[in-house]
Amino acid sequence: MYNVMSPKAEEFISHEEILESLAYAEANKANRELIDKILEKARERKGLSHREAAVLLDCELEDKNQEIYALAQQIKKDFYGNRIVMFAPLYLSNYCINGCEYCPYHLKNKHIARKKLTQEEIVKEVTALQDMGHKRLALEAGEDPVNNPIEYILECIHTIYSIKHKNGAIRRVNVNIAATTVENYQKLKEAGIGTYILFQETYHKESYEKLHPTGPKHDYAYHTEAMDRAMDGGIDDVGLGVLFGLNNYRYDFTGILMHAEHLESYKGVGPHTISVPRLRRADDIDPDVFDNGISDETFAKIVACIRIAVPYTGMIVSTRESKACREKVLHLGISQISGASRTSVGGYASEEPEEENSAQFDVSDNRTLDEVVRWLMELGYVPSFCTACYREGRTGDRFMTLLKSGQIVNCCHPNALMTLKEYLEDYATQATKTIGEHLIEKELDVITNPKVKEKVIDYLANIHNGKRDFRF
Ligand code: SAM
Repeated sequence: MYNVMSPKAEEFISHEEILESLAYAEANKANRELIDKILEKARERKGLSHREAAVLLDCELEDKNQEIYALAQQIKKDFYGNRIVMFAPLYLSNYCINGCEYCPYHLKNKHIARKKLTQEEIVKEVTALQDMGHKRLALEAGEDPVNNPIEYILECIHTIYSIKHKNGAIRRVNVNIAATTVENYQKLKEAGIGTYILFQETYHKESYEKLHPTGPKHDYAYHTEAMDRAMDGGIDDVGLGVLFGLNNYRYDFTGILMHAEHLESYKGVGPHTISVPRLRRADDIDPDVFDNGISDETFAKIVACIRIAVPYTGMIVSTRESKACREKVLHLGISQISGASRTSVGGYASEEPEEENSAQFDVSDNRTLDEVVRWLMELGYVPSFCTACYREGRTGDRFMTLLKSGQIVNCCHPNALMTLKEYLEDYATQATKTIGEHLIEKELDVITNPKVKEKVIDYLANIHNGKRDFRF
């Protein structure tokens, strides 16, 4: 039984401990002996403490940095194979009463077009997403108890799950909405959500309060303790993230790992995912005004060090990043990416006229889902549309158990191949289909259980009959 009396935000994200860890990392950034010891521990694949990970992040020994990257790649391969899970964000509403200085939804922005999808518009959006081949969504909304109350979000989830169009279906809905109450998290759980995602933006309390001067999001403790409430409400899978560019990256890197450690010790399971968004240009937002921007190189180092520090946590990169940058971080630890994303409200069903811009930020990767899928396969990855885990009850520590059992090759891999085949059959262009068929053929060899393999081969051979959604 885990301690139900979780410590408060300022205890589990201790400012002093972060500062001491950063000073320790700075003092040891060229300490070969210590770095070797940390790397040796990391090779056991059981993760690292925030302080150890901070040393690796700061490490300035070229040969050791190469070892860090190589280890991150190896851990990625061993834990996640070559599968990359696909998803798309769906923006429900950009009404918002917060004053976040980096987000165009902020209340004082009078020139962004405010929009909220009706249930009819959701049907159009989701049909367009299904027609691309998406099976997994992340719902996004501003915080506005009048325009976007929890009842609205729940109604949207209900509508989304009920839409069946041709062979399409949204099988998993993740939710990225503002911090809320245990009761509301319970309602989200009952509505069948997958992961509850909430970005901390920054763990540095003083900066956090300056960046969120007005609105409910101003409350640092309420925001930081949201994942504890979500888990108390029965949501096992939570997704953390910080918005890189807002604050010193070393501080937030250490903070996010402390947050993961806290969830692991007090709730018995660490975060399901960590997202690594970087600040982007948006309506009324100039990223150059913020002076904590990070280079692509630092970004890659962050991804590699998170991969090593929390091997069991999936990592997400969005279309905020360019094709080239995504390519660089994929093999260092990313396990989920979005494709063909629109950040405007209603952007999938229809193109917005320029004067009606409702987008949250500019995307860097504008390719279609088919192009992203083909690109992944050309790089040797298996794009996966699998959503089986939470539907089979493999959430929280049950998912971790699967990972640790080594049975991923007989569970995730077959599911990835079968959902990829569904995608190829229903949505892919001929060029993508040709590459995909060859890839699936080759990847069948990864499955070690002969009975599982037999079932997969049978499903693949009969997919043209219209049967869908067979899973392990
Ligand atoms: N309203 C919810 C909240 O407050 O957490 C959901 C947030 S929003 C729809 C999703 C995320 O987009 C935010 O948490 C923030 O990190 C990110 N975001 C906001 N403005 C951004 C920008 N200009 N560039 C990149 N990401 C941004």
